[in-house]
Amino acid sequence: MSFASLGLSAPILKAVADQGYDTPSPIQVQAIPAVLEGKDVMAAAQTGTGKTAGFTLPILELLSGGERAHANQVRVLIITPTRELAAQIGESVITYGKNLPLRSTVVFGGVKINPQMMKLRKGVDILVATPGRLLDLYNQNAVKFKQIEILVLDEADRMLDMGFINDIKKILALLPKQRQNLMFSATFSDDIRKLAKGLVNNPIEISVSPRNTTVESVDQWIYPVDKKQKTALLINLINENNWHQVLVFSRTKHGANKITAQLEKVGLKAAAIHGNKSQGARTRALANFKSGEIQVLVATDIAARGLDIDQLPHVVNFDLPNVPEDYVHRIGRTGRAGASGQAVSLVSADEIKQLFDIERLIKQLLPRKLIDGFEPVHDLPESRLDTRPIRSKKPKKPKVGHRDGQRSGENARGHKPSSKNKRHTGSRNRVSGQSGNR
Ligand code: AMP
Repeated sequence: MSFASLGLSAPILKAVADQGYDTPSPIQVQAIPAVLEGKDVMAAAQTGTGKTAGFTLPILELLSGGERAHANQVRVLIITPTRELAAQIGESVITYGKNLPLRSTVVFGGVKINPQMMKLRKGVDILVATPGRLLDLYNQNAVKFKQIEILVLDEADRMLDMGFINDIKKILALLPKQRQNLMFSATFSDDIRKLAKGLVNNPIEISVSPRNTTVESVDQWIYPVDKKQKTALLINLINENNWHQVLVFSRTKHGANKITAQLEKVGLKAAAIHGNKSQGARTRALANFKSGEIQVLVATDIAARGLDIDQLPHVVNFDLPNVPEDYVHRIGRTGRAGASGQAVSLVSADEIKQLFDIERLIKQLLPRKLIDGFEPVHDLPESRLDTRPIRSKKPKKPKVGHRDGQRSGENARGHKPSSKNKRHTGSRNRVSGQSGNR
């Protein structure tokens, strides 16, 4: 299967070839023809599957015909939950559209609104936006929706998790009825399906399993270790194994800062990325990490979600996430695009419940390794695989203070996300079981 056979034209094929992609990923094989045909699409796909190109490439193809955007108008609106995702999609649009005379821009909160208003003045073919800032721009007449041809809702589940449902509903009500809709979500919970009902018409349903969570592409194991030894063990692992590019996950922002400071103290180049960091600091940290200037990036779960870092060799879970699905998202940062990666977790005795939950979710026991000098005094109990199916129950909401999702998500007007946020733990598991293109 080649990109050419999917119906894309020369300028786009050239941009794709320049990226070094030779074969379309499964989601691209399914999504590109469907979008080109003008169909609505509902896709269960996570970051790492190639979904961004899956919708961007055919959109660029469709846009190369048709009337250009008038003043303040937009032809394609891509809504995404976080600033990082918005910036990354914006970059992809530029990369894949570099041989086309199309205008695009990205808007998100946390930065000045005026430059964004200026960019929208002449109209843009593609606008990538986070929900709150988009509404602010609309309310100030900086963006108009009359010319919208296509709407993309990216990471819809995360958007609901982050309390954007009301903003989304408001935006949907403002759009022209006649349009093509593409909806992407890692999971399809009842709430997502409800949202989809009012959004997509007779959609092509696509489901691909996240290729980067398969055991073949990611080597996973844990190091049982005492809590107070974790930093020393992390430093030992990085130095002994010569890890040159490591993404470390911390459950809390405070933890991320502390780990970063401790790594810097021993001369390792590290930076933290979380919701309390300014947009500039986050963008800089990511760029420096990608260029190799920074060796260790320490991130909280939501700040890291969607980070587009190719073929990251090492992911370390400094602590285990409270929500087992976050473990899958975390290790999804490694072993991407067919490359193999390593995901290791430092697990202390008090994290046994999180470990059991993760092992139950991924349906395997994680191998354990010990490092001389770091054997735990507080024993980590043996795991026994819980093979009971995970029911679609609504788990307790994690404490806001322990996660930075809300704040790392853009909410330009300082709105507190809805207290009705719920994570749909059980349903995530169902995604991989969904049937393919129906
Ligand atoms: P995404 O799921 O959109 O975040 O994409 C994940 C990563 O895969 C990105 O870094 C893309 O550059 C890369 N990618 C997307 N499509 C392909 C492809 N067909 N071949 C190789 N890499 C790809």
